[in-house]
Amino acid sequence: MINSELVLGLPGYQITGIERACGEVRVRVRHAGPAACPHCGSVRLRSKGRCDRAVRHEDWGLRHVVIELEARKFQCRDCGRGFRQRFPGIQPWQRASEAFQRQIFRLHLDGINRSLLGRREGIGAATVQRYFEAGLRRQFGQWHPPRCPSVLGIDEHFFTRKKGFATTLCDLRRHKVYDVVLGRSETALAAYFERLEGKDQVKLVCMDLSSAYRSLVRNHFPNALIVADRFHVIRLINHHFLACWRELDPAGSRNRGLLSLMRRHRHNLKPEQLARLTDYLAGQPALQRIYRFKQRLCCLLLQKHKTRRQCRPLAARFLKALHQLRESGLAQLMQLGDTLYSWRNEIALMWRFTRNNGMTEGFHNKIELISRQAFGFRNFDNYRMRVKVLCA
Ligand SMILES: [Zn+2]
Repeated sequence: MINSELVLGLPGYQITGIERACGEVRVRVRHAGPAACPHCGSVRLRSKGRCDRAVRHEDWGLRHVVIELEARKFQCRDCGRGFRQRFPGIQPWQRASEAFQRQIFRLHLDGINRSLLGRREGIGAATVQRYFEAGLRRQFGQWHPPRCPSVLGIDEHFFTRKKGFATTLCDLRRHKVYDVVLGRSETALAAYFERLEGKDQVKLVCMDLSSAYRSLVRNHFPNALIVADRFHVIRLINHHFLACWRELDPAGSRNRGLLSLMRRHRHNLKPEQLARLTDYLAGQPALQRIYRFKQRLCCLLLQKHKTRRQCRPLAARFLKALHQLRESGLAQLMQLGDTLYSWRNEIALMWRFTRNNGMTEGFHNKIELISRQAFGFRNFDNYRMRVKVLCA
């Protein structure tokens, strides 16, 4: 006897014949398992005759496979209800086995579009979509943790021109996307945060310098510390510094080579690059002072892994630098000073905690790839489900 698990991947079937017809392989099978009433579990059944089913099964290479099942109809002697024989691996009323539906799910997930896959497999595009959504729901149900992660990263990313931006919530400890939510403003996200479970378990939230996210976190996560993302803080400092440079020396700031040297950390410059920068700054005494100040500030913010005691002198230096910025008399630097001052606590926590939003930014790359593979999404729910399945 042929082992049906080897041939079909389904155990407990008896294969009675295999033939090839019209380009497809038709396998006739019978299920030997005992039939019981699905309503009451009784085995006292009355046979009501035969009804055959033809069910699509996973392909053998490039050949389509159809399973022809010899099914029976029964009536239960205890509860009186009629039913058809049930088969393992094949859901009632379905015209395709679970294995075939999983195959379609996998192929569509890998990037073969609905219409092409439907034509290739001899099913409709809508059927592909139905199997795909069922597959997503299956995986989604397995992976989605109901409660909030303890270390959270929050950042925004672009969704569509019509619907604007979406917010990514990332589980930084388990390296997963926890959720994506449409919108990035406080009003758009308030309802979502209201519904979240386990908000008091969140210990740490990492974010860029966005005041909307900060007030959301302060309102909804009572026990969470907010840590600023180092990359964004340094980028902000560079942005204001370069704007200040453009005001002081418009001609020099148009030099692309100098621009690249000015925005880099001093310790990353090669000796000849450093010499070139020093030559330029020697002719600009005011700019030279600002440049040195920026370098010292960036160096201070690059400190990591500090204890509480080690943080104290750093904090004093940081506050002094902020004071100098706000008293500098240059519009760009004063604005920078005000922004950094309002985020001083979150920035100071960067010395203690090494968590950052790099992972969230990495997931944004992947999310963009998902979006491009699907030629863009219009429906946010479909988008969210796919992101959660693929980034978890
Ligand atoms: Zn029954």
